[in-house]
Amino acid sequence: MEKLKLLVSQQEIEKAIGRIAEELKRDYRDQPPLLVGVLKGAFVFMADLIRALDIPVEIEFVKLSSYGTKTKSSGKIRVVQGLRSPIRDRDVLVVEDIVDTGLTIHFLLDYLAKKKPRSLKLCALLDKPSSRQIDLAIDYKGMEIPDVFVVGYGIDYNEKFRYLPEIYYLEETS
Ligand code: 5GP
Repeated sequence: MEKLKLLVSQQEIEKAIGRIAEELKRDYRDQPPLLVGVLKGAFVFMADLIRALDIPVEIEFVKLSSYGTKTKSSGKIRVVQGLRSPIRDRDVLVVEDIVDTGLTIHFLLDYLAKKKPRSLKLCALLDKPSSRQIDLAIDYKGMEIPDVFVVGYGIDYNEKFRYLPEIYYLEETS
């Protein structure tokens, strides 16, 4: 049995997105970016983020698969669904739900960099700095969280809990 414990409220999520949106508006006002969302977990964050921006962004999605267990990434990652349009000379902003070990996003940034965008930056709602296995700069960050397994706000456990408007952590109960 899993028990859900509230970690981040709707209000805290809104506040973090509002702050990121202000930073993005400041940095991309004259060069509207192409936002690349990482499926599936980032789709809710992406939807709220683009509506908090009042600049004409374009969006794309990529889907990755990791050969890890349900709760830990193995670092062996592959692209399941790639980009549908070229990103050469575009200002690309990757939108991710969680940076944990950093291996997934490191792989994706490498994959995108080879396509020669004009600029490539990373925006992540949640950061678990204590689990990091690779040095990585998060250019726009929602908030840091402890090393717990979270669900809700688009983020799942076995496809469950994505619909929840807040972010919870899972506590194992027997
Ligand atoms: P990393 O490669 O940085 O270890 O892991 C990144 C990916 O692992 C995230 O995009 C997410 O899909 C998944 N992940 C990491 N931590 C969590 C978590 O607490 N909950 C869920 N549901 N997925 C996580």
